[in-house]
Amino acid sequence: MTGAGGSGGPWEARIRRAGELTSSHPFASEALRFYERIAGFQKALYESTESGRGAGRPAPPPGELRQELELSLLLPWFASFLSFIAEIAPPPLAEAAAELGAAGVTRWQEVLHELWHTEVDAAPRLTAAEGLLAWSFLQPYAEALAGEAPPPKPDETPLLCPRCGGRPQVGVLRPEGHGARRSLVCALCATEWNYRRIACAACGEEKVEKLPVYVAEDFAHVRVEACDSCRHYIKTIDLTKDGHAVPVVDELAAIPLSLWAAENQYKKLKTNLLGV
Ligand SMILES: [Zn+2]
Ligand SMILES: [Zn+2]
Repeated sequence: MTGAGGSGGPWEARIRRAGELTSSHPFASEALRFYERIAGFQKALYESTESGRGAGRPAPPPGELRQELELSLLLPWFASFLSFIAEIAPPPLAEAAAELGAAGVTRWQEVLHELWHTEVDAAPRLTAAEGLLAWSFLQPYAEALAGEAPPPKPDETPLLCPRCGGRPQVGVLRPEGHGARRSLVCALCATEWNYRRIACAACGEEKVEKLPVYVAEDFAHVRVEACDSCRHYIKTIDLTKDGHAVPVVDELAAIPLSLWAAENQYKKLKTNLLGV
């Protein structure tokens, strides 16, 4: 997803939205404040990646964003990211960050490499906390690279991100004509690509009776789109109902919907920064 103009644009919008939702969603305020601080760090890393890579560098070819991983650019940032998280995160994640910080540069290289070439929840050589740390750290780097790549083809509707092969974090309904168009947002590089309106984002199931949708009164613009074939769900942010929403942030704030889904034995397609 490309943000509104300028360096750091998408991060500015996310940080601003987290601030807005903190006052209207008191139950999520702690989580949103934590997100705001991480997003502040991510914004700085995003801007540094953009300028550090410089002009004239070849753009990553379509679908192959993860061929490249510039560890020399990233490792100094990773050290400060880990100390930062050790300071601001809730205790279990803070401890994991401090431990990884102490493990040293060889382990950092392994962890970043492993996450980059697999998936946060399918990287067998990483603990869950290491996966979460490496994933949130690499997001802004991936998003900066994605900004250089050609846009996804509008007529293709793949299950995985057309730029990096990552899974979607959240769905989006955007106004189009008299209705809405559905897209998915990549959990790693934030690319947004078109997807079928009625189809499971995890397995592609298309039978309407297998695809329950749950909407709570308090979050009229957030839909839990579940699938009874594969038991996964994704939240989709309906921008036709709230044009100010910022999908990744509104998804984080709708914590009660994640609880509802878990109680109903649906598994999130991709857990978010808060681990839910
Ligand atoms: Zn991606
Ligand atoms: Zn499914």
